[in-house]
Amino acid sequence: MSSVFNFSAGPAMLPQAVLKQAQQEFLDWNGSGMNVMEMSHRGKEFMSIAAKAEADLREVMQIPDNYKVLFLQGGASSQFAAIPMNLLRGKKTADYFNTGQWSKKAISEAKKFCDVNIVASSEDENFSTVPEKDTWNLNPDAAYVHYTTNETIGGVEFDAIPDVGDVPLVVDISSTILSRPVDVSKFALIYAGAQKNVGPAGLTIVIVRDDLIGDVLAGTPTMFDYKVQADNDSMYNTPPTYALYLSGLVFQWVKDLGGLPAMGEINKRKADKLYAAIDDSGFYQNPVTPKYRSWMNVPFTLNDASLDADFLAGAKEAGLLTLKGHRSVGGMRASIYNAMPEEGVDTLISYMQEFAKSHS
Ligand SMILES: *Cc1c(COP(=O)(O)O)cnc(C)c1O
Repeated sequence: MSSVFNFSAGPAMLPQAVLKQAQQEFLDWNGSGMNVMEMSHRGKEFMSIAAKAEADLREVMQIPDNYKVLFLQGGASSQFAAIPMNLLRGKKTADYFNTGQWSKKAISEAKKFCDVNIVASSEDENFSTVPEKDTWNLNPDAAYVHYTTNETIGGVEFDAIPDVGDVPLVVDISSTILSRPVDVSKFALIYAGAQKNVGPAGLTIVIVRDDLIGDVLAGTPTMFDYKVQADNDSMYNTPPTYALYLSGLVFQWVKDLGGLPAMGEINKRKADKLYAAIDDSGFYQNPVTPKYRSWMNVPFTLNDASLDADFLAGAKEAGLLTLKGHRSVGGMRASIYNAMPEEGVDTLISYMQEFAKSHS
């Protein structure tokens, strides 16, 4: 068992059980005599790994049959461009919520391809909340509506799927995928980079309703065309084989744990106790509207910022790593994804309480 808890926002902790299994299979996967990364992606061994990964993800997320699951490269950031290329489908405008740094990046990329209507923005409130529904300015003629369900930097999470009528809904779930149940049928497209809550960097997951693909913007690169990727089972070119294998082990791990309902309960418990410790302390603060606090990324500041360096040094000594906040927010950020054991959150809370006591 590793003696540290890593609170990195991404790449992030992976489940110990998964790392152990990968280690056991490192030199010889299932009697093949090969490491998975040495295998041809078209050989029967790797094809079985890829098929099982997709089947398990479909089972865990209860993905309906009329959705394609694509395993791509390029990160969530490539999807910021691929989404308008594939989903504009002759239209000239798309709707975007602006709730944080990742929303902003998605918006600035989309502007290269279409007019962007900002449905609502929390930028004036320093991205500490989600704008209330009565302020939303939805365009019924938009090609799609895009939102970032969990802003990884700000620690702001939508508490429900926004009701946008009949316009196709697109969501970036990079930092909440597999953290709790989600009704896939409500979406046109769901996408996520793997390195927060799934597996190693290098794999990007796209789940897209199959009637929406095949009508791309002129000039769209082949690799960005969802229809081409779907028709080729995500093997138009060489997929990120080892990242997909490890992610498949994580899908199995989530299944064994009881799936997303069980995962969601654990995650809610972990987040609730950490926020309670912050709110009850009189020493730490979280700036986010309570209803919209992220279950995955918990930013907090010390009332006395001159103690930040001491806090981080002591945390490191206690085996609590990567707690420094994002440079745009300051303070601390504890990312408590699926792989963070409850014991890690308990250890962090104890450390925070002791630090507050000895510095008040
Ligand atoms: C990390 C992150 C991204 C960027 O992911 P890459 O895979 O590095 O491109 C996009 N959106 C959200 C919400 C993220 O957390």
